[in-house]
Amino acid sequence: MAVRKYHLTFTPENVSEPVTYRLVKEFDVMINILRAEVDEAGGRLMIAMEGSGIQIERAIRYLEASHVQVQELKEFIRKDDSRCTNCGACVSICPVKAFVMDGRTFKVAFLNEKCIACGMCVDACPPGAIRLRAQV
Ligand code: SF4
Ligand code: SF4
Repeated sequence: MAVRKYHLTFTPENVSEPVTYRLVKEFDVMINILRAEVDEAGGRLMIAMEGSGIQIERAIRYLEASHVQVQELKEFIRKDDSRCTNCGACVSICPVKAFVMDGRTFKVAFLNEKCIACGMCVDACPPGAIRLRAQV
């Protein structure tokens, strides 16, 4: 089983389709909605999808056939360890604890698999050690 993160973009025409329901019911994948936004331009959904490689592949094909734009989110931000002062500002601001401070060494580590691409840490980092890698 694998867990992959995707950013889905819906048009005004397909934004009301029960896409996540169908993904679970017909493609047997588990969906965790990380972020959701809907406006007059359509909708954007960030999801974590869990399933076998074949299940995920079929689910993605279904989304694309439904005219949903699918972008896999592998790396949203990157932390530059040479600039990081281990101040902990990102640890406080990250809503999903994707930054953790080692209580023994007082060094801050970034856990990419937890990141939900909210972008809040980028401006919160005093020395600019956190850079965006992808726009979603
Ligand atoms: S906010 Fe920036 S400098 Fe401070 S611990 Fe996080 S990455 Fe390092
Ligand atoms: S982008 Fe958001 S979720 Fe990802 S590490 Fe930064 S604050 Fe955390």
